[in-house]
Amino acid sequence: MGIKARTRVKEALSSKEYGKELTLKGWVRTRRGNKKIAFISLNDGSTINNIQIVADVPLFGDALLKKITTGSCISVTGELKESMGKGQNVEILAKKIELYGTADPSSYPLQKKGHTLEFLREIAHLRPRTKTFGAVLRIRHAMAYAIHKFFNDKGFYYLHTPVITGADAEGAGEMFRVTTLDISNPPMTEDNKVDYKQDFFGRETNLTVSGQLEAELGALALSEVYTFGPTFRAENSNTPRHLAEFWMIEPEMAFCDIEDNMDLAEEFLKYLLVRLLDQCGEDIEFLAGMYDEELTNRIRHVAENEFIRISYGEAVDILSGSGQKFEFPNHWGADLQSEHERFLVEKHFKKPVIITGYPKEIKAFYMKQNDDGITVRAMDVLFPRIGEIIGGSQREEDMDKLEKRIKEMNIPRDELWWYLDTRRFGTAPHSGFGLGFERLMLFVTGMSNIRDVIPFPRTPNNAEF
Ligand code: ATP
Ligand code: MN
Repeated sequence: MGIKARTRVKEALSSKEYGKELTLKGWVRTRRGNKKIAFISLNDGSTINNIQIVADVPLFGDALLKKITTGSCISVTGELKESMGKGQNVEILAKKIELYGTADPSSYPLQKKGHTLEFLREIAHLRPRTKTFGAVLRIRHAMAYAIHKFFNDKGFYYLHTPVITGADAEGAGEMFRVTTLDISNPPMTEDNKVDYKQDFFGRETNLTVSGQLEAELGALALSEVYTFGPTFRAENSNTPRHLAEFWMIEPEMAFCDIEDNMDLAEEFLKYLLVRLLDQCGEDIEFLAGMYDEELTNRIRHVAENEFIRISYGEAVDILSGSGQKFEFPNHWGADLQSEHERFLVEKHFKKPVIITGYPKEIKAFYMKQNDDGITVRAMDVLFPRIGEIIGGSQREEDMDKLEKRIKEMNIPRDELWWYLDTRRFGTAPHSGFGLGFERLMLFVTGMSNIRDVIPFPRTPNNAEF
């Protein structure tokens, strides 16, 4: 019943029921005042804003109030009053205060304000209590919910693809091995290799780098599916845009070509941004003020303008004709680096860009081959500040072409027999893409390091909690 009896700070702040008795529970942000009266600023995570609790010192006693320091947790019952103070409409005149937990000021790491994001990463277990991470985590929730709503309303089914996989052919990145073997003394085969037949699954297994191959199996039965789950890549690169564990959204659609795929990606991203501005205004405003003045404008600009669509060839021509000096000079056949992507988006077009028709050599085996024999129907969506936010393609549905490509790329065909069966039995044109959830989060929060948009970042040498 406790929860029922409790009013959230967010509700109380927007209430006009002056005189009503409410119970609020939360963590103390600050306490100030004098011998007669104490002002406690309280937050419960329901909103970026704190509510002011006014406590009569003689009524509660100095001994209790002194323990109510920054970071302590209390329950307050009191009367909702219109506030005369600046920057707030209401306050609570306390009648009863219960102290749930103290936070010793001499050791509480968030005693003072204004810690750097680097410091907060070292206390990731406490940083959700800061304004910044409260805002980021609320936005993260709102975006996750909006993603499910978007696809549900379009008739897509949420497909749960496996986290542990025996398929390592996707080639999207280095994988993490999953094993129950004793790694200091593994069983060996006659020719002196680790005998994975004796491992838990009777084979080599890893954490998934993408749910796409399995999503294709779903799409070729349910027509439109999407995945939304954790993805693992043993990326040793330590960049501000890569995590070892990140969340990916992967829609996969039967009867859908590359044009439809681009249309969906653009509609999807804009839908998320419009909902974001609509629902997370206060949090966005706070983050804009703290980290990135241009945040709201940038989000609005992307939500309101048509994305540019060009081919890889056109992109290369623009880059080589730009006169711009790049750290990695670009030429036809080379993958676009983040600096190239950002030049196109931020300097040249000043709008998000979708690039299609990449050389087949730099893309995955499953992408649909164009008639030119050189390029594939890949599509990357590039965003300001982020670079690649979505990677996708129309898939090769033709068994012969797909098998030929698998051979050319030396991919072990036997491990993909189940995938190839979709092309043997009732194949269909189909397409899909992957949105990195934390890349989206970087864009919508204005944060510049991907470690600051996920509650518990997994990066090289960082997995304690
Ligand atoms: P990049 O070139 O940026 O490493 P990628 O080509 O490896 O990306 P894909 O395999 O196409 O990316 O994955 C789809 C999406 O997943 C990307 O567009 C990006 O948004 C996201 N993504 C990829 N790798 C990571 C990572 N290590 N951490 C967070 N997000 C990632
Ligand atoms: Mn990568």
